[in-house]
Amino acid sequence: MAKTDFPLIFERSKEGRTSYSLPELDVPKYDLDHELEHSYIRQTAPDLPEVSELDIMRHYTGLSRRNYGVDSGFYPLGSCTMKYNPKINEDVARIDGFSHIHPYQDPKSVQGALEMLYDLQTSLREITGMHEVSLQPAAGAQGEWTGLMMIRAFHEANGDYNRTKVIVPDSAHGTNPASATVAGFEAVTVKSNEQGLVDLEDLKRVVGEDTAALMLTNPNTLGLFETEILEMAEIVHDAGGKLYYDGANLNAIMGYTRPGDMGFDVVHLNLHKTFTGPHGGGGPGSGPVGVSKELEPYIPKPVLVKQEDLFVFDYDRPNSIGRVKPYYGNFGINLRAYTYIRTMGAEGLKKVSEYAVLNANYMMRKLEKEYVLPYQQHCKHEFVLSGKKQKKLGVRTLDIAKRLLDYGYHPPTIYFPLNVEEALMVEPTETESKETLDGFIDTMVAISEEVKNDPELVQEAPHETIVKRMDETTAARKPILRYRK
Ligand SMILES: *Cc1c(COP(=O)(O)O)cnc(C)c1O
Repeated sequence: MAKTDFPLIFERSKEGRTSYSLPELDVPKYDLDHELEHSYIRQTAPDLPEVSELDIMRHYTGLSRRNYGVDSGFYPLGSCTMKYNPKINEDVARIDGFSHIHPYQDPKSVQGALEMLYDLQTSLREITGMHEVSLQPAAGAQGEWTGLMMIRAFHEANGDYNRTKVIVPDSAHGTNPASATVAGFEAVTVKSNEQGLVDLEDLKRVVGEDTAALMLTNPNTLGLFETEILEMAEIVHDAGGKLYYDGANLNAIMGYTRPGDMGFDVVHLNLHKTFTGPHGGGGPGSGPVGVSKELEPYIPKPVLVKQEDLFVFDYDRPNSIGRVKPYYGNFGINLRAYTYIRTMGAEGLKKVSEYAVLNANYMMRKLEKEYVLPYQQHCKHEFVLSGKKQKKLGVRTLDIAKRLLDYGYHPPTIYFPLNVEEALMVEPTETESKETLDGFIDTMVAISEEVKNDPELVQEAPHETIVKRMDETTAARKPILRYRK
C-alpha cells in the first residue's frame, strides 16, 4: 500500500471483528417481533464495516488530519465568513442544562433555555433594528424563503394577488433568486452600474404594480456597501413592494447601522457566519428573520413570548405562515451565537465590523498591485479581484486557487460573482492577525510571479496535496454514494 493510500473504512473491515466487548446477556432477551409490525423489521443485516476500536480511531483521526478547517489554517472563502469559532461557545453548549434537555419537555421545566432564546431574540432585534425576530429558520436560505412567504402573506391579506415578482440585483447572493422561485415568485434581475452598485434607473424600469419585494444583499457580493439604499427603499415602497435585507454578512456593518433604520421590512441573519456558529462541514446553521411591525402577524409560529415571569410558546397566531422548522430552531447554534454576543458585548460587536472591514481593505490594497481590482472604492468585509491579467498568460483563476493549496491555504471563492471575469472573492474575517494576512498576501504575490515565470507549475497545481487535481465534472456527475464490497 502506497504511503498516500488511505483505505476506506469498508476496506479495513475484517469479518467478525468488533469495536466492543459486552458481558454475556444476563437478562431475558427482548423480542421485537412481538412489538413491531413485521414490515418494520429489517430482513437482512446492514452492510456495516467490521473493525476494531483502534481501527476506527485511526481511521477518523487520519481523516481529520487530512481535513482542512478554520482551526487548521487561514480560510478566506468569500461570502462564507469562515471565522474562528470561539471554544467558549462549545463549553457553554455542553452545559448539562442545555445539552441534556429535550424539545418535548414541558416549557415550564426548561425556562432557563427559553430565557436564553428570548434574550437572543431581544439582542438580534436590537442589532438589526427590527420589531420582532423568529429564531426558527435553520439557514440563511431558509430565512430568505421564510421572509418571502411572510411578504406574500402580507400582500395576499391585502387582496394584492398580482404581486408576483421579486427584484434581485445581479450582484446578489445566489440563494436570493432561488428562494424567490421556491417561494412561488418570479425573480427579476436589476443590473449593477459601473461602480458595482444597484443601478437606480434600471430599478425604476423593473419596479411596478407586480413587484412583491426587492431583495438586497448588503454589502453586495462584491463587498460593496449600497450607498443609495434610502432611494431604493423609496422607489420600492412607493410601488407597494416590500424590502428584504440579506444580512448573512452582517459583520460588515454590525454596530454601525441597522437594516431596520434603513426602512427594511424583513432581514435574515446567518448566525453560523457573523455570530461564529461552526458551519460548512462543521455543523448546522441558523438563519433568524427579523420583521417590521407590519409583518409581525405573519411570523412563524409558535412565537416565543414572555407572559409575566414565564416564557411560553404562543400558538395563537391566526395569520402566521406556520411552522418552518421542527421544535424551535437549531438550539445549539442559537446558544453559541448567544454566548458570542454576551462575550463580545455591544462595543465588541462594533469592533468586529471595524476589523473585518479593515482587514479586507488592507489585503485588497496590497493585492491590487498584482491582480486586477475591478471596483476601486473601499470595500466592506470582503473584496473581489479579477485574475484576467494572469489569464492572458494562460493561467486561470482555478489554477491559482489550486496552487494556494500547495502553500497550505484554503482558496478564496472563485468565479463568483458572475459579473467579474475570473473572479477571486476574498473574505479575510476579523479574527485573523496581521501576520496571517501578510502571509497570504506574500503567497498571492509569489503565485503571480510564478504565473509570469513558470506558468506550468501553477497550471498543474496542486503538487503537495494528497489528492492531486480532481476531475470535478466527473466528481459532480458520478458521485460515489456508497462503497460496495
Ligand atoms: C451564505 C449566504 C447566504 C445563504 O446562507 P446559507 O446558510 O448557506 O443558506 C445568503 N446570502 C448571503 C449573502 C450569504 O453570504
